[in-house]
Amino acid sequence: PEYISVTNLASLLKVRVEDFVRKLEQLGFEEVQNDHILNAEHAGLVAQEYNFEPIVQADGTDGDLYPAPALSPEDYAELPQRPPVVTIMGHVDHGKTTILDYMRSTSVAAGEFGGITQHIGAFSVPLASGKKITFLDTPGHAAFETMRARGANVTDIVVLVVAADDSVMPQTVEAIKHAQSAQVPIIVAINKIDKPQADPERVKQDLARQGIEVEDFGGEVQTVNVSGKTGQGIPDLEEAITTLSEILDHRADPLSRVEGWVLEGTTKKSGKVATVLVRTGTLRQGDILVAGNTWTRVRSLHNEAGLVVKEVGPGMPVEVDGWREQPIAGDEALQAEDEQQAAQVTELRTEKIEREQMAKDMEAINEHRRLES
Ligand code: GDP
Ligand code: MG
Repeated sequence: PEYISVTNLASLLKVRVEDFVRKLEQLGFEEVQNDHILNAEHAGLVAQEYNFEPIVQADGTDGDLYPAPALSPEDYAELPQRPPVVTIMGHVDHGKTTILDYMRSTSVAAGEFGGITQHIGAFSVPLASGKKITFLDTPGHAAFETMRARGANVTDIVVLVVAADDSVMPQTVEAIKHAQSAQVPIIVAINKIDKPQADPERVKQDLARQGIEVEDFGGEVQTVNVSGKTGQGIPDLEEAITTLSEILDHRADPLSRVEGWVLEGTTKKSGKVATVLVRTGTLRQGDILVAGNTWTRVRSLHNEAGLVVKEVGPGMPVEVDGWREQPIAGDEALQAEDEQQAAQVTELRTEKIEREQMAKDMEAINEHRRLES
């Protein structure tokens, strides 16, 4: 409904009308009567005061789950740190896969279990310091682009890989443009430093020509000499990432309702699964997630080593099973209260998509008719 009376909303929220009226007055509503009518927006805001997540149905068509509003700077500063989410970019053959594989193979999860990892589109590297870094390993950066198109940056930091024997190439320039337009800070990994032809100074000069102000030349962008082949410099790269993450002050609330991104969706023998990167909250078995027009009651959570994990906090990727339909990369995953709410939201979203498709079809038919006549 578009409007609701004070009495009805109080009964929905299971609070006494008198207490509810007092609350409304505290919130700034004036001369509240029991038959006072609230619009959907106000009712939603009041419901949130009682820790309800309202399904806003302002016009009767937009039943949906929404991400929590942004926190105030004071509240944000109280939250625990979370791992940074890093995307590796660079020219083909400059060593992106080699560097990722090196870091993956040295991660505890992979090491303890024979190094057999499965591709889930992201993985977490635990460091000696106890901190963690999450690397996205999504082909074609498809999810990255979809999410960016929606105005959200899933990536906190871009590691730009430049081969020391080849320097800046067309896809290096493209990656710089991507990172800059998304306003994601860059760390440069000058790779293949083990090669005799390696010339890191030339790389720095070529980067400066592309507007990348590297530290050595008085700028802010860190460069790290590495070899994905020998592992030389990789711990320095990891340290550069965690240091930058501390400066950027990446934090998240592990106790909030779960919000995340779908990085990949696939169908396996076990059914429809999706890699979800948790943005805030802690995801557990039995939780209910909605993504696009599908939902799941989480049967089990698996990490990149294929192992069952009990719970996953902010900044961490995990494979989630039990989806009704296959989720789509780039979709937002939001926790619902219960199966009923999840089913309702997905139904409304599906109807909305169908309505929009029908409107498009009608337009095409009308256009066709106009051209015919
Ligand atoms: P990508 O296209 O950026 O993912 O590049 P790859 O990781 O596939 O690497 C391309 C080639 O460079 C492969 O033959 C790698 O073995 C080689 N390579 C990658 N990193 C290094 C390195 O640090 N040193 C040397 N010598 N070769 C490397
Ligand atoms: Mg590759």
